[in-house]
Amino acid sequence: MLDLIKLRKQHGYQAIPDVRGTELLSTHRGFPVIDESKCEGGYVNCKDICPTGAIEINPLSVDLGRCIFCGECEKACTTGAIKFTSEHKTASSKRQLLNITSGKSFKEYEQAAIDSAKEIKKMFGHSLKLRQVSAGGCNGCEMELGACSNVNFDMGRFGIDFVASPRHADGIVITGPISKNMAPALKDAYRSIGTPKLVIAFGACSISGGIFAGSLELNREFLDEVKVDLFIPGCPPHPLTFINAVLKFIKK
Ligand code: SF4
Ligand code: SF4
Repeated sequence: MLDLIKLRKQHGYQAIPDVRGTELLSTHRGFPVIDESKCEGGYVNCKDICPTGAIEINPLSVDLGRCIFCGECEKACTTGAIKFTSEHKTASSKRQLLNITSGKSFKEYEQAAIDSAKEIKKMFGHSLKLRQVSAGGCNGCEMELGACSNVNFDMGRFGIDFVASPRHADGIVITGPISKNMAPALKDAYRSIGTPKLVIAFGACSISGGIFAGSLELNREFLDEVKVDLFIPGCPPHPLTFINAVLKFIKK
């Protein structure tokens, strides 16, 4: 027993103390800053390079719901019209806000990105249990969600946990592009959760289909039937993107 206490003392407190203030390395690709005035056009068509159709031109914009943050557009653009910052708090409660246009600063985006009703804090502020459904995901998103509960990110300290049964959950977290085979299981899991319930789309695949968008093997009808409360961009998103988004949404 004494040895165990000694070992625990040696390990110390390993969780990131301030999940809200923690910044990621400059190599992390997060919020893009777009300056259309720098775009010389014609030299390289970033719209054609983008593997997920996230870029629109005239006016230039990047849809974070489609973007897989591969960095190809930034590499190809020699004038610096598209630059990715390391800002990781890219989640939004409104799908249309994920479309980043020229001149939009991260601060401006962050202020408007997540909004929720007053009752959400009352209902989920103390404890939020989530059921995760991998609807054809590659396991990248699933691993990052798993990391949210590890000793470093320790999401459980805020009362947010993943649970095994949808019957015990307050909401569902969807990963993957929703394959035909997984569509019924996703619906079943959603129906098994009591109301009120949250729906969170985690990763480019769940938000837009990502690199699988348009595939005949998908069935994304579920998303037309439910209201998605939070969109978490990335491929996969960072655990801090998820934790910060949920904390802000439940006003914790
Ligand atoms: S970083 Fe995003 S917007 Fe740019 S090419 Fe890759 S997927 Fe497209
Ligand atoms: S968004 Fe990226 S990491 Fe997540 S399931 Fe799709 S391909 Fe995998």
